[in-house]
Amino acid sequence: MQDQKCPKCGGEMDSGRAQAENSLIYYSDWQKKTFKLGILVDKACACLTCGYVELYLNAEVLKKRIQDNNSSGIK
Ligand SMILES: [Zn+2]
Repeated sequence: MQDQKCPKCGGEMDSGRAQAENSLIYYSDWQKKTFKLGILVDKACACLTCGYVELYLNAEVLKKRIQDNNSSGIK
């Protein structure tokens, strides 16, 4: 994941972690159930030129959550 270019300005990206006061959690809109399982957003990259920040989560976990949701209703 090195040598990544900023999608906004093409500048050099620095990689690290994103952390909120507790944890930064992503909730998909696909999850319509009242009990939602969030996905931890931990990886982050920041542009050294414009300051744009990209956040990453585990895509396999997200896909599985969406599939689990779909198997119990909406297609
Ligand atoms: Zn940039």
